[in-house]
Amino acid sequence: MSLSTHQHLQRFRSYLLRNGLKYTRQRQAIAEVFYRGNKHLSLQELLDLAREREASIGYATVYRTMKLLAEGGLAVEHQFADGQARYEPAEEGEHHDHIICLRCGRIVEFEDPVIESRQNAIASREGFRVSSHKLEIYGECLDTECRDLEGSGDDDVVL
Ligand SMILES: [Zn+2]
Ligand SMILES: [Zn+2]
Repeated sequence: MSLSTHQHLQRFRSYLLRNGLKYTRQRQAIAEVFYRGNKHLSLQELLDLAREREASIGYATVYRTMKLLAEGGLAVEHQFADGQARYEPAEEGEHHDHIICLRCGRIVEFEDPVIESRQNAIASREGFRVSSHKLEIYGECLDTECRDLEGSGDDDVVL
């Protein structure tokens, strides 16, 4: 079961207080757009959204707030092919992998029980107990809108 935005914010607030940090208006605004918004947002996208609420927010504040959320286990940070950090809310007991389009940047989530159990089987065959894994599939999606991007510059990876 996924938490509501309100529950996420409460968790962030108590995490900050436990660590002697303040729950500032800026941090609250950033966390709110993060938990309300789309998954896999970049720092720049989070900054644009947060600024609509608190014009005083700068890139460094977004950067530090997202680091705090990730350190507290409240957000998951991904580095997909473009090397930009992207964040999604951490949901307890939830796991998924990603397919990323190199042309339009679309990100699809999936979970496949066969892949999951094969990975565990391979790890234990090699003498490992799995603590985590990341699986990222890259390609070009077959959306018509995405195909229209073709020819608009081959070396343009828009993620
Ligand atoms: Zn695409
Ligand atoms: Zn995801």
